[in-house]
Amino acid sequence: MYFQKGFGLKSEVGPLLARTYQSAVVERLKSIGYEASAGGLHFKLAKEFGFCYGVDRAVDYAYQTRRQFPDRRVFLSGEIIHNPDVNDRIQAMGIRILADARDPAERFKDVASGDVVILPAFGVSVPELEHLKAKNCVLVDTTCGSVLNVWKKVNFHARDGYTVIIHGKHHHEETRATASQALTHKGGQYLCVRDLAETELVCDYIRGRLPAAALMSRFRDAASEEFTPERDLQRIGLANQTTMLMSETLKVQETLRRAMVDRYGEADLDSRFRAFDTICSATQERQDAVLEMLSAGGLDLMIVIGGYNSSNTQALAKMCGPRLQTYHIDSPGCIETTGIRHRQIGAATDTLTSGWLGHGDVRIGITAGASTPDSVVGEVIERVLALQGLTAAELTAPAPFAQGSSTSAKATADKQSYAS
Ligand code: SF4
Repeated sequence: MYFQKGFGLKSEVGPLLARTYQSAVVERLKSIGYEASAGGLHFKLAKEFGFCYGVDRAVDYAYQTRRQFPDRRVFLSGEIIHNPDVNDRIQAMGIRILADARDPAERFKDVASGDVVILPAFGVSVPELEHLKAKNCVLVDTTCGSVLNVWKKVNFHARDGYTVIIHGKHHHEETRATASQALTHKGGQYLCVRDLAETELVCDYIRGRLPAAALMSRFRDAASEEFTPERDLQRIGLANQTTMLMSETLKVQETLRRAMVDRYGEADLDSRFRAFDTICSATQERQDAVLEMLSAGGLDLMIVIGGYNSSNTQALAKMCGPRLQTYHIDSPGCIETTGIRHRQIGAATDTLTSGWLGHGDVRIGITAGASTPDSVVGEVIERVLALQGLTAAELTAPAPFAQGSSTSAKATADKQSYAS
């Protein structure tokens, strides 16, 4: 059995989802113009943040699935989305999240015929899907429509003999699932580039400045098993993980386009190079909203909320980091009485920063990745308020955000950061 459209139980699980994932504090801030103040704390919410349509749907289906199959074992083929709070709640309903493993037989070794398996918003690879179908599981597929759109583009490239270059993290579930689509075509190959630096290496090879062996020593884990640079970098088609930074994706495209022109000439470009921007609209809207906030100015610091393994949250933090003091946190518990526990871009461990609120007025920008529920955002605001003995009931609307910085929060925090 294969379900893709839920079980018609939306009205039954809706009230529970609203109670669990919505926030009165966030609703209030939205209703008074996304800005509010209490004491010396001034908050400004991004105009778009938090749960996207794909995550909304995936979480809804997971709750519907539990209700539809109360007596069956229910598994998730991996984290439904990259948010610790949501994953904890789903596990508390008795849905088991399976550990990651490259081999489908290993990943699904505890799953038996008749068990229910929920496929996450970022999809699963072709071999994983085939494995589960062969096992005769009940499949509840929550793969987001925007991910399916990327797969369509990848199939289009691979079918026509273009090697698929994916701007994405090769170990991320979505990119692994996307890459597997390329292999469904005869001779299909793929290569994943994580960022501009990796793209430049591929371009060095295309221009004849880097030997094939050197390229492959870097990309062995990020390319299809039979990938052969001499053969597979003559015609390339680009796609990207849906949650990458749009500005970087455009640079990756242009950088590869120029390398192909240098190697093969402009006249031959159409038959050797194709590019589609497959950033999803929800990711784009959240990035645009952050850009708008940064351009408006007047913020002293930014809190970016979302799982540390959430690609779209990392992209938001990457945008803010160079512009102002940014704290990427994954849960309200990161707001501690002794400081803020956060993850710096690219770091594997947390940093605890004390003195981060500085003294006097502080203007705090807040955004959250597409897998972060409003309930988490609201709780973060409440915990920040509590540090100064304030509550959400004291938030008033809307304090104007003046240009420039008013506190020493950034300087103080810079001095007091240390790894925990
Ligand atoms: S971030 Fe985009 S692709 Fe991912 S689930 Fe949300 S809408 Fe879908």
